[in-house]
Formats: sequence, structure tokens, C-alpha cells
Amino acid sequence: MDFETRAIHEGQEPDPATGAVTVPIYQTSTYVQEAVGEHKGYDYSRTANPTRRALELCLASLENAEHGFGFSSGMGATTTVMHLVSPGERVVAVNDVYGGTYRLFSKVYEPKGYEFEFAAADEVASAIDERTRMVWLETPTNPLLNIVDIRGVSEAARAVGAVVAVDNTFATPYLQRPLELSADIVVHSTTKYLGGHSDLVGGFACTNDPTIAERLAFLQNSLGAVPGPFDSWLVLRGLKTLALRMRQHCANARAIADFLAGHPQVERVLYPGLAAHPGHELAARQMADFGGIVSFLAGSAEDAVALVGRTKIFKLAESLGGVESLIEVPFDMTHASTADAPFACPPNLVRLSVGIESADDLVADLESALVRSAATA
Ligand code: PLP
Repeated sequence: MDFETRAIHEGQEPDPATGAVTVPIYQTSTYVQEAVGEHKGYDYSRTANPTRRALELCLASLENAEHGFGFSSGMGATTTVMHLVSPGERVVAVNDVYGGTYRLFSKVYEPKGYEFEFAAADEVASAIDERTRMVWLETPTNPLLNIVDIRGVSEAARAVGAVVAVDNTFATPYLQRPLELSADIVVHSTTKYLGGHSDLVGGFACTNDPTIAERLAFLQNSLGAVPGPFDSWLVLRGLKTLALRMRQHCANARAIADFLAGHPQVERVLYPGLAAHPGHELAARQMADFGGIVSFLAGSAEDAVALVGRTKIFKLAESLGGVESLIEVPFDMTHASTADAPFACPPNLVRLSVGIESADDLVADLESALVRSAATA
């Protein structure tokens, strides 16, 4: 079955008790047992819950994965996957990861004796050595939208027996499926495009490797960062429109990137869909389209801060991937925790999460904010 059909039906049958078309929200912590150990596959909701199970089956299918695991947040998923490595082991990560991921790696795991090397997007493969146990990728990266060669890095990692985990939050499985490009694990913040409506916080991880899957199932239950039934249901509902939404996010982002690229007050636009982007050809190879995030450099840090206060439709807020357009300054907001990082998040960088409103309205909103910025400069 095609992606759009699986997004609506996979893991979901009409409720056998009532015929309800949508999966019920099984708001329960525990399940009656006929006799000790005799139950219908569920004994306690941290271990398994039918609503969460439906989400795990559906989203795993969209990533072409055999095994999927729901988490209470993207960071919950990342933390759990990081338990596959141990203190003293070496992890190579792309350097402009999401600020919270950098904080987790550098402020929580590094002091415990884990060794990290943060490499530029095009230097990840060459940073892998015999001692590397895990490689952590984001592509496109947040917020600089660099592109990492998933297949190339996975081949280099395989040669030394390291596991490759890809945070696929920006692309979603509609645009990019890292397991098909030889990665071992895919991680998501379902808070973003998968939920799609800025109304939940959640995470996910999946794999085709049975040994990794067994370990992740153990860790999911042992660490306990699981999503509740209602949040699982919201993600499941979001997935049904993922393909439609992503098509619109991509079309709108393209229109905005083109507009900004021709604007005299914009120093540089970072969008992998633009031919001038250094990762354009690689993105065209490993992604179906270029995504809904556009970053750009405004004149100065002050210009960036002033601009994000002037838009009307683009709301000033952290996060991304919802139907509504958001604008932010990563240096001061989502990536403030990377101030001491070995890579620079420019203070004049503006990040747009382009929503699915009318592209004309969105361009007009940015145009008038830029005009008013110029008038007060
Ligand atoms: N990965 C990426 C790329 C993100 O942008 C975020 C959050 O912004 C996360 C992971 C963390 O997800 P969550 O906020 O659901 O914990």
C-alpha cells in the first residue's frame, strides 16, 4: 500500500467491541488478568497500551521499519536511544543539532564519561574511527539546514561496527526514510510535523535491527519515558493528514525562500531547495522535497530581533511543524543552550516554520515586516 493509505489505516482496525472507526483512547493504566499471567497482550500501560501500539505500528510502517517505540517527547526518545552506548564510548554527532540535543550530549552525557565529537555536516564520515560506537545525525540540521549524506555516513559507520541514529524530525518519513539509506535507527520529535497541530509533546524511535529493537523495548519499559494514550491518539490522528500537510509546507516554503532570496534586506537564505544551497544536490537525492523550514540571515542581531516582533501571521514562538507559521531567533530562543558549542549559530539568524496558510498571505506578512524594519533602521 502507498504511504497515504498506510498513514490512515496501518495498525488500525474498526474497534471490535463497537465498530468505532477511529482507535479508542485506552485511558487505562492496567488490565484485568483471567489468571496470573493470562491476559490479552497488555498487563500495564508503561509496557504497552493499545492506543500507543496503534501509533507505533502506523509510524513504523511509514518509516518502513519493523519495530517502533513511542516516547513522551523527542528528548525522551533521544535519551532512551543514547542508552545503547555506555560511558567511555565514542559518539560522533553532526555539529548543528537541535539545541536541546546538544545540551543533553554535552551537559548530561559528557560529564558521565561519554566521549563526543561534533563534526560539520560534510565531515561526519571522516570523523568516524575504530572507537566510534554511535553516530548521531540530523538532516536537514536545525537551524542551519545543512544536509548530511545518510548513506555515505552509514557505510563509514558500518565499516567500524557503529550504529547510526538519524533524527528525522525536519524531513518526516514523507520526505526522507533514513532506514532505506542504510541508517540503523530513526528518531522523531512527534511534537512537530507528525502531530502537526502544535497541541502535544511526543517522541518516537524505530529500527529494522532485531537486536536493537529488543534492547529499545527493554529500555522503553525500564526508563519509562512513554506517551500517554491521549497524546498517542493525537499523533495517530496527525499522521492521517501528514502527506497533504507536507506537500503544502514544502510548496509554501519554496515560495517564501524564493521571495527572501530576492529581497535586498536579506543577506542569505538557507533553504536546501535553492540551487545555490551547498547541500541542494544531495538533498534532491535523499529527500522527496525540501521541507517546510526556511532560515535566513537578517542584517544584524538587532534587525533579526526587531523583525520577528513585526510579523502578524508568523507568530513569535519556539517549535515548528504545526499548521500555523512560526518565526524565531534561534540564537536567543531554541538554540540559546548552544552558546558554548563548537559551532556558531549566527545571532542574526531568523528561522521560519512555514505553515500551510495561503503562501500569498505569508509572503505579504514577511514583506510588510521587512518594509517596516527598513523604515525604522
Ligand atoms: N529534534 C529536533 C530536530 C527538534 O527540533 C526537537 C525540538 O525542537 C527535538 C528533537 C526535541 O523534541 P521534543 O521537544 O519533543 O522533546
